[in-house]
Amino acid sequence: SAKEQGIELNRYAHAMQMKAQERLQLENDLRKALARGQFYLVYQPQVNLQSGLIVGMEALVRWHHPQRGSVSPAEFIPLAEESGLIVPLGEWVLREACAQNKLWQEAGYRKLCVSVNLSMRQFRHSHLLDSINSILRETGLEPAWLELEITESMTFDKDRAFEQLHKIKEIGVHISIDDFGTGYSSLHYLKDLPIDRLKIDRSFVNEIMEDSNNAAIVSTITSMAHHLQLKVTAEGVENEEQMMFLRNQHCHEAQGYFFGKPIEAADFEQRFLRDIDK
Ligand code: C2E
Ligand code: CA
Ligand code: CA
Ligand code: CA
Repeated sequence: SAKEQGIELNRYAHAMQMKAQERLQLENDLRKALARGQFYLVYQPQVNLQSGLIVGMEALVRWHHPQRGSVSPAEFIPLAEESGLIVPLGEWVLREACAQNKLWQEAGYRKLCVSVNLSMRQFRHSHLLDSINSILRETGLEPAWLELEITESMTFDKDRAFEQLHKIKEIGVHISIDDFGTGYSSLHYLKDLPIDRLKIDRSFVNEIMEDSNNAAIVSTITSMAHHLQLKVTAEGVENEEQMMFLRNQHCHEAQGYFFGKPIEAADFEQRFLRDIDK
């Protein structure tokens, strides 16, 4: 009946309002989180598939919310992006990751490259370069040990991306395309933009063995990367079969639960660095 429909609509409106309120609350909490020291980084190993050696790690941010506990970046990164908070947060992540990498290098471990994710807003920000420069200076990390991950969507505005990426490359920092194959971007940018690496999205890697289309996509991306003289990393490797497949395809590097989940710095050092040649 019309009355029942009215009640349904009311319920819906109420639920929507709750969602909006929750979101607003989360955004408010997010605003304070940086000053309150509620963010921390976890690190996931990146492995060279020929040598089996660890060559780097991706830094991933986590938010320890006082009431909700650990909030996933999938939930708060979009919020941070919309509110502009991603700029100071992203800068914090970059500083923290560079400082940690430098600490490990000074402890005498074999040098590794740290990868840091950039968001669209950060990438577009006019102060990005100053910020990278001053963080490298402050922490003393050599630029060659830092890699910045951007996504295909950030290359839409090709001229702008070109300018920004060139400046980053000039410093000596590496650049990779994250989640490669999932963006609706043309491949045009690949030949003109100064990028070093493609990271094959884990949605393709996940089902390499089950779905021959995925296997075809992964080997095609890998061989394209070779032809373009780009490095290639497979994301989301969860088992030995996938690892073997990728190795046979001459994929350079891999990352995924098979090698290790992202963990905090102290655990990462214990588990992955303790035994590597000093
Ligand atoms: P991403 O950059 O593609 O990061 C890889 C994500 O895949 C991570 O999720 C990681 O935990 C997960 N992962 C790694 N190996 C496996 C695997 O074998 N199986 C499965 N199922 N998952 C795997 P996480 O840490 O939840 O991050 C999600 C996304 O949030 C990231 O995707 C990235 O887009 C964003 N993000 C995380 N940290 C930052 C940051 O500091 N800045 C920015 N801008 N974005 C970030
Ligand atoms: Ca990434
Ligand atoms: Ca990715
Ligand atoms: Ca992503």
